[in-house]
Amino acid sequence: MSDVLSLNGIVISSMPMGENDRRIVLLTKERGKISAFARGARKSKSPISAATNPFAFGTFQAFEGRNSYTVVNAEVKRYFDGLSKDYDAICLASYFLEIAEYFSGENIDESERLNLIYLSLAALESKTFDSKLIRRIYELRTLKINGEYPNVFSCIKCGKTENMHRYDTRAMGMVCDSCQDDKNSSISISQDLLYVLQFVLSCDMKKLFSFKLKEDLFNEFDNFMRMYWNRNIDHAFKSERFL
Ligand SMILES: [Zn+2]
Repeated sequence: MSDVLSLNGIVISSMPMGENDRRIVLLTKERGKISAFARGARKSKSPISAATNPFAFGTFQAFEGRNSYTVVNAEVKRYFDGLSKDYDAICLASYFLEIAEYFSGENIDESERLNLIYLSLAALESKTFDSKLIRRIYELRTLKINGEYPNVFSCIKCGKTENMHRYDTRAMGMVCDSCQDDKNSSISISQDLLYVLQFVLSCDMKKLFSFKLKEDLFNEFDNFMRMYWNRNIDHAFKSERFL
């Protein structure tokens, strides 16, 4: 039998198996996304019962098998159980987990994505921020981690970083005033929104949830993200229809 591994991560999905067991998916710092079996986890007296619910964040002890892992113990640092008391928050939090499960990979470093989920759930649970803003920040930073995101740092045609007022929806980047030729394929972007997009894509992750937006600016950000997401993400997330 292989050695017990200590994996830091969060339960991103959990399914009942048989009468007493669970099959969970964990997003871990050390192994990326992994599928794990939790024997007896549905028995109320099981030490890993609560630790195998979605959102449980902590350290999981597991054996590595041929196709799957087996969780034998866990030390949960945070359950995010404050989310469960708020229907809208739990729907959005479930959407975050579904996105993370869809985009994450096995055996790759997913520490950034794990960090993003943790901070986003903490922001949501704190109730200090508008949940719609948390959603758009989470989505945009997810795109950054995926490596495909809107180019808002320089003109996609000449590379200059000044006088950028329009976003080319086909080329997926900003165009400066001198390069702008086709208004039909571009949309106007305010300087405030440009700054928000640049900030969310480049700031230290700890600062992601450190700002609020006035209604007009939030609406512009919201519309931009909806447009970008619909055009570029070719997947329907089941949990999205509850948002
Ligand atoms: Zn240009």
